[in-house]
Parts: sequence; structure tokens; C-alpha cells
Amino acid sequence: MNEKNENEIEYKNITCTNNTRKIDDLLKQYSKDRLTIFNLLKSNPNELSTLLWNRKNGLLNIDETCQCKMGMYDGEYILKSTYNCVQCKQVGRILDLLPENMNKPFRIETGKRKNDALIITTNPNVVLFTEFKNSHRLSSEHTLKYYNKLSVCDSSLDLNQKYLLSDEFTNNFLISLLLEQLLKNQTVIIQSIYVCGRDGYTLSDKYQFFYRS
Ligand SMILES: [Zn+2]
Repeated sequence: MNEKNENEIEYKNITCTNNTRKIDDLLKQYSKDRLTIFNLLKSNPNELSTLLWNRKNGLLNIDETCQCKMGMYDGEYILKSTYNCVQCKQVGRILDLLPENMNKPFRIETGKRKNDALIITTNPNVVLFTEFKNSHRLSSEHTLKYYNKLSVCDSSLDLNQKYLLSDEFTNNFLISLLLEQLLKNQTVIIQSIYVCGRDGYTLSDKYQFFYRS
């Protein structure tokens, strides 16, 4: 199995949040997480599929027992609860964790990216799924039938290609980090994803796009 290296955050160990008190440090940690995941995606997608959401030593945060639940806790919410997960603790420093603050852009108040906007979107009752398989001959046939120019772009493409399959929540994140690496860090769309309670959360950059008519 992949050894933990110094860049990897221990999402099971709440003390790791001591190193991400400043927003710049937090965003730097997310960037390291994404690079670790990207490198494993390239070198060993099979291992990535088992490690990404692993409950013991996963590369992303999953905590179904967190008491905070990003402010969606259905009992008395204790802001300083010691039972908050790593991401609730980290994200709670840059945004008040209240239901009305989800799915709404908010500004970074300090640091290098002061005034840039982020957004947390909720993915209710997310069902995680990652698998690396080679038994999707039909998918390969379908792909080559409708996008036959792919075989020109990549002559190695064949009907026995393996696929990293994942749920939509995870897949959107993986596509985002692939784009980030392909465009050489010129864009970051999704900073991190995590699961707290039953729901998935996506922390993204919120860009304003202006179109000319
Ligand atoms: Zn949490």
C-alpha cells in the first residue's frame, strides 16, 4: 500500500488542523492533496480506487459520525464540539457553518486570495463508489463507435481499456483535478470534496464569468 508522505494530511487525526489555521495554509494543503491524488491516478489508479475514500487512511475526509455535520446537525449544535470532523473544523474557520451559508458564494477575508469567492455545494445522501475495472468492453466499443477519431489521437486505445469508475460526486472532482494539471495550474475549480454525516460537500472556487453579447 501507499506509504503516507509528509504532504498527506491525516484526515483521521484532528491535530492536523493545527497546521491549517491560516487560509493560505489550508488552500496549500488542499493543493497538496490534489497533487497526491493526481500522481496516484497516473501511477496506480487501482490503488487510488481503494485508497481515495478509505475510512482508515483515505486521501479524502469521510466522517459519518461528525457531530457538526457542516452546521446541519439536527440537535443542539455545539460550535466547539470535540467531535467535529477535520473538514468541519477547517472550513468552520473561514465560514460560519450554518445551513443558510451552504450553496452560496462567500469571500475569503484574509491572505493571498483575499476577496476571491468560494462556494460549498451540498450533495445530499451521497453514495460513494470507486472501482478500477477492465470488463467494460461494451463501453469501449461504444466510445470508439461514436468517437472513432479517438483511435487516431491515441493509437493505444483498445477494447480492453481499464476504467476508473466512480460516482458523480467523486467523478466531478477527479475531472476537475485532471483539468487543473493539464492546464498547468492555470485553473482550480474544485479545492476539495469531503463527506460529513450522510452528505457530500464540494468546496469550489466561485468565478464570475462575463459574456459579451
Ligand atoms: Zn464534519
